Parts: sequence; C-alpha cells; structure tokens
Amino acid sequence: MMTFTNIRTLREQLKETRFTAATKGKQIKIALVPTMGFLHEGHASLLRKARAENDLVVLSIFVNPIQFGPNEDFERYPRDPEKDLALAEREGVDFVFLPSVEEMYPQPTRTGIKVADLTDVLCGASRPGHFDGVTTVVGKLLHIVQPDRAYFGQKDAQQVAVIAQMVLDLNFDVEIVPCPIVREADGLALSSRNVYLSAEERQAALVLSRSLLAAQAKADTVANVTAGEVLAELRDSIGAEPLAVIDYVEIAEFPGLAPVAGGDRIDVSERRSDVLIAVAVKFGNTRLIDNVILTKKVND
Ligand code: AMP
Repeated sequence: MMTFTNIRTLREQLKETRFTAATKGKQIKIALVPTMGFLHEGHASLLRKARAENDLVVLSIFVNPIQFGPNEDFERYPRDPEKDLALAEREGVDFVFLPSVEEMYPQPTRTGIKVADLTDVLCGASRPGHFDGVTTVVGKLLHIVQPDRAYFGQKDAQQVAVIAQMVLDLNFDVEIVPCPIVREADGLALSSRNVYLSAEERQAALVLSRSLLAAQAKADTVANVTAGEVLAELRDSIGAEPLAVIDYVEIAEFPGLAPVAGGDRIDVSERRSDVLIAVAVKFGNTRLIDNVILTKKVND
C-alpha cells in the first residue's frame, strides 16, 4: 500500500500504473472510495466492494472544511489516521490519498461545483452550502484520480443523488456505485459521528432504525397505505423518544428527491419511483441521519 499527500505525486503514480498495465496489454479498472476518515465497517464495506470489482483501489481521506457550516463540527470531527491506514491495509487498498487542506484548496480558490434543486431539500435545507462543498471536493477527487468507478454509501442517500446528477450534468466519465447501509447489530447505522454519543444518547438513537424499519415494513405490507400515514407514524415514533430532537422526517422520490404528497399511496403496487424515507435527528449536540429506500415495483 502506498500513501500520498501530494496531488502531483499521486497523479504520476496513477499514470505510471496505468501505463505499465497497458504495456502488458491490460486496461486496469480503478476505483475511488472518498471518505473523511475515522473509518468503520461502513467504509470497509465500500472498500471491499471496490476491491472485488476493480484492479486498483484508491481510498481518499480528507475532512473537507468547505462542506461544514460555520457552527458545525469541522474542528472536532474525529480523526485517527494511523488506525485508518491499518484498516485500509487490511482491506487491500492500493493507494491512500491524505491531502492537507492547503493541498486541496490553495488560496485563493475561486471555483466550485453546485448542483441545483436536489441540494435545497432534506439535509441541504438544514445545512446551507453543505452539498456545494461535497460536489466541489468530489469533483476535484474525480479529476485527480480519474477512476472508472466511485463508491458511495446509501447512508448519505441525498449525497448519492446529488453526485449522480453532477456526474451526469458535467459528463464525468465514471460509474457511481451506491452501497447499502451497514448497521450495528442493534440497528444503529454506523457513522464516524457515533463516537460523540453518550451511552444514553446511543441507546436513544436506536429509535431511528427501529422507526424506519417499521415504516418500511408498513409501506411494504399494508395495502393502499399513503405517505402521510407512514410519515405520521414515523414522526410519532421518533417524537416519543425524549432525547430525540427532529430536524426532518420526510418522504421523497429517489433519486429525484421531489417530496411525495401526503395523499399519495406508497404501497408496493402504487410506487411510481423508488421512495426515500429519510430522517435527521439530533441527540444532544450530535446530528444523526438515517434512511430506508423502498424499491419500485419491477413490472409496470
Ligand atoms: P464519510 O467518511 O462519513 O464522509 O463517509 C464516506 C463514505 O462512506 C460515504 O459514501 C458514506 O455514505 C459511506 N458510509 C458512511 N457510513 C456508512 C454506513 N454505515 N454504511 C455504508 N456506507 C457508509
């Protein structure tokens, strides 16, 4: 495994690796797995899928300052590069890219990428500018690495939708591969931010997966059920947890993210698209997100 902090050196190594393979008559497939580090099983699942499907796996670890709001947790975001490198090594990563903020954003930086509409809803409504930071850094990483495939977790379902739109609109030559949410045995979705939770908050946070799975079961099994009915039950269930402060609980089309009207049926026989049920809830100072995606009926 090789580690890089410098963009130019990484590019040269990638070029050489591609060239060496080409001289042997082989076109290698390169995967990129972008992360902010403090790696856990969720990240590991992306790395494993990338490893299985490609010849070379590039992991980036960069806590991207421009996707954090002024009152968010950029400074205290958990970091543990040594542990991250051990996990990367275990998962068979070839190249790790760990740039500094100065390397990624030499000053002045005046250019960014903004995806319209999809970034104004859900997390975009409560975190203005967040997705502009995400698309800008992911766009830069895609340009630097030029991977054939890039792997993202459905844990950040809106991020998947926004990045897929960016790739489509700006003709990035890459396949975006969404990966399922990895959960703890008790249901809590893995997140680097889970370390912020007190024991009591962590216990309370189980209400998210419990309520979302109940919502999914209801939508999948109850005939004629509407989005409004599922939403009301979900809000009640999360609202009943005293430590939970709801940021949003919503049902939207996926990946279009248009809200589904309360009266619309979302039972299996009536789904016109995949449907995202997404929540963002604070426990103390920690804001957690989670979701489930209801898949569209296969035959229309
Ligand atoms: P982060 O380091 O939190 O920015 O996450 C890096 C990537 O890992 C993103 O594509 C996330 O969606 C993905 N990821 C984070 N947590 C999970 C999880 N529990 N299951 C699957 N993917 C995840």
